[in-house]
Amino acid sequence: MTDVLVVGAGPAGLAAAVAARRRGAAVRIIDAAEGLGGQYWRHLPSSRPSEREELLHHGWDTFGSLRDEVCQDPDIVVSMQTEVWAIEQTADNRLRVNLARGEADGTGRLTEALAPEQLILATGAHDRALPVPGWTLPGVFTAGAAQAMAKGERIAIGERVVVAGSGPFLLSVTASLGQAGARVVGVYEASRSRALARHWLARPWELAGAAHKIGELAEYAVHHIRGRVPYRTGHGVVAVHGTDRVEAVTVAVLDEHWRVVTGTERRIDCDAVCFGHGFVPRLELPIAAGCHITERRFVHVDACQRTSADRVFAVGELTAIGGADLALAQGEIAGWVAAGGSLDDRDIRRAIRSRTRAEQFADRMDRAHAIGDCWSDWLGDDTIVCRCEDVDAGTLKRVAAATNSTGLRPLKLNTRAGLGLCQGRVCGRNVEQILLATHGCEEFADATTTDRRPIATPIRIADLARAPEHPTDSVLNRPRSQ
Ligand SMILES: Cc1cc2nc3c(=O)[nH]c(=O)nc-3n(C[C@H](O)[C@H](O)[C@H](O)COP(=O)(O)OP(=O)(O)OC[C@H]3O[C@@H](n4cnc5c(N)ncnc54)[C@H](O)[C@@H]3O)c2cc1C
Repeated sequence: MTDVLVVGAGPAGLAAAVAARRRGAAVRIIDAAEGLGGQYWRHLPSSRPSEREELLHHGWDTFGSLRDEVCQDPDIVVSMQTEVWAIEQTADNRLRVNLARGEADGTGRLTEALAPEQLILATGAHDRALPVPGWTLPGVFTAGAAQAMAKGERIAIGERVVVAGSGPFLLSVTASLGQAGARVVGVYEASRSRALARHWLARPWELAGAAHKIGELAEYAVHHIRGRVPYRTGHGVVAVHGTDRVEAVTVAVLDEHWRVVTGTERRIDCDAVCFGHGFVPRLELPIAAGCHITERRFVHVDACQRTSADRVFAVGELTAIGGADLALAQGEIAGWVAAGGSLDDRDIRRAIRSRTRAEQFADRMDRAHAIGDCWSDWLGDDTIVCRCEDVDAGTLKRVAAATNSTGLRPLKLNTRAGLGLCQGRVCGRNVEQILLATHGCEEFADATTTDRRPIATPIRIADLARAPEHPTDSVLNRPRSQ
C-alpha cells in the first residue's frame, strides 16, 4: 500500500486525501487548523456550532461528503492542529517533514518527523493587502481576516465598513460582513470597467462550463442590489483617516495603472475598512522541498500535479489562484496519481475536465484583476510598509537608491523589512515592488525572494529539542497522545 501524506485540509487537500484512499493508498492528512475545510469552508468552532451551517457556505454538500469519507475511513489518519514547521531534504534524497502538534504557540507541543513515500502539498495562500497612508490604524483589516472573523466567529469588523481592493473575493467578503451584521457602505474595485468587461466577457462559451461559479457571483450581485451596497469599479481607497482608530477613508478614481486621477478624491465616513488585493501562495514548504517555482511565483506542476521534486505534488492555490473548484479538481488528480493511478483512468476524467474549466476561469480572474503598476504612488514617505519592523516607504526608497542595488537582500538587511515576526508574509511582495519601482526595473539582481522561509511556522526551542532524530516511514503510524 502506498503511503501518502497530505499537508492542508482545505478543498484541495481533502479531495487529494479521498482520491488517494479510493485508489488504495494509506493516507494521513494534517492541518494547522482546528477543523477540516480550509479557508473556503471555514466554520464555527466545534464548541459553538451553528444549527444550519449549510446556509453560510457554498458547496456544503461537497464538503460534507469529503469530510465523512476522510473521517470514517480507518485507513485515513486525520491530524488537526498539526503544523509542518519545516521540510528538509536529507542526504539520501528523501524528504523529512517536521510536524508539531498541539495549540499553535502552546507549550509542550508534540513533535514528529515523517518521511512519506508520496507528499501532497495543499497549503493554500494568504491574502494580500497593499499599504496606504493610515492603514495601520485599528479598524483596518485584510479582506481575508474580515472573512475569517465573519465566517469563523460571526463577528463583523465594524458597523459601517468600506471594502476595497480587487477581485471577486471582495463580493464574497461583503456578503459575509452583511450576514454578520455589518453595513457595507461601499465596495471599491480598482480594476476599471473596460478591463473587467474585456477579460470577463471574452470567449463567453467557456463560461458555460463554470456555471456553478457564475451562479455564486450572481448570488453576490443579488445580495449587493438587495442591500443597496454601492459598487464602484476603477476606484480605490487611497488613504485611511482617524485619530485612535478608523473614522473615514479617501476614495479616488484610478487610471488603468492604478494612478489616482487628480481631483476625484472624496471622503467617506466609516468605522472599519478591509483591503483585499488578491492572494499570495504559501511557497515556503514547496521551496524547502526543492520544487521549481514559476516566473509568476506559483509551484510548477505537470498534468498530474507533480512538482519538479521527486514524489512531491502540489495542488490548490499553491499552483494558481483559482478558487475552490480548481482546488478540488487538482486535489483529486494529485491524490489519484500519487496513489499509483494514471491520467488515463476513467475515474478521474471528470476531474480533468473540471480542472480545465476552472483553469480558464482562474486565468480570466487573474487578467481582469491584476494589480496596477503605480499603486506605490499612493504612499507617503512616512507610510509604514513593513508593520513588524516599522519600516516606511521613504526608508525603503532611500535605501534602495543609496545602495544603488536591485538586490532584495541588501534592502532587507539594511532596513529589516520582511525580517520580523510575519517573515514578509504581509509586506514581502509590496517591498519587492517598491524596490523594482524605485529602480524602474523588472528583476532583482539576486535570486532571493521573500517566499523562502526555512522555518515555516514559529516553534519553541523546547519543542525543537524534542524533535526525533529519525523520521518515521509509515504515515499511518497513529500519533501518540499528548
Ligand atoms: C483568509 C482567507 C479567506 C478566504 N475565504 C474565502 C471564501 O470565503 N470564499 C472563497 O471563495 N475563497 C476564499 N478564499 C480563497 C480560498 O483560499 C480558496 O478559494 C480555497 O479555499 C483554496 O483551497 P486550498 O485547498 O488551495 O487552500 P486552503 O483552503 O487555504 O487550505 C489550505 C490549508 O492548509 C493549511 N496549512 C497551511 N500551511 C500549513 C502548515 N505549514 N502546516 C499545516 N497546515 C497548513 C491551512 O491551515 C489551510 O487549512 C480565502 C482565502 C484566504 C487566504
